[in-house]
Amino acid sequence: MRSFRSLTREDYAEVKSRLSMEKVAEFYGYQVKRGGVCLCPFHNDIHPSMKIYPDDRGFYCWVCGKGGDVIRFTALLFGLTDREACRKLAEDFSIPVTHEGETYRERRERQKRQERHEQLQKFRKEAEKILSGYRILLCEAARDPSSAHFVEALQELSVVEYRLECLRENPAEYYADRKAVRKLGEIQKRTAGWNK
Ligand SMILES: [Zn+2]
Repeated sequence: MRSFRSLTREDYAEVKSRLSMEKVAEFYGYQVKRGGVCLCPFHNDIHPSMKIYPDDRGFYCWVCGKGGDVIRFTALLFGLTDREACRKLAEDFSIPVTHEGETYRERRERQKRQERHEQLQKFRKEAEKILSGYRILLCEAARDPSSAHFVEALQELSVVEYRLECLRENPAEYYADRKAVRKLGEIQKRTAGWNK
């Protein structure tokens, strides 16, 4: 049996980076329905009132007001402290934590994984902002035939919708596609002087 005496902040980050809220909720028996809602385990819920946010953005119940990350969810569900909940998640999902006896190479790999995760989160947020902003501008232009961007709007609107969908479904794949990333930069530049 592994010793968990020295759970570090890195361990918490590791557990959180490996587990989406949806994965954890479903693992413990709460089916996440369309629109990312599920029955709230923390009050007598009949209609799903708990929102499960994508990736590591946690949960929130708009009826009883409980919310937090995967660790908080598990702590509340099983009546554990956050530390115990983190251990439980690590065990249930076979995530190696506590880095006693970890080799140099294992540590480097873990840190790299963590860095990649953070990079990807940052990219996803920025890309979503650029694409959503562009979509709004295109929607406005498409309604106005006298707009200088009218033709562009007709041509590009469905493309942008598609890109947003790809981004939400698989941000890692999107990030790896250098052409798609370059295109984001172009959009950002072009829309900077829009409507002027
Ligand atoms: Zn609730």
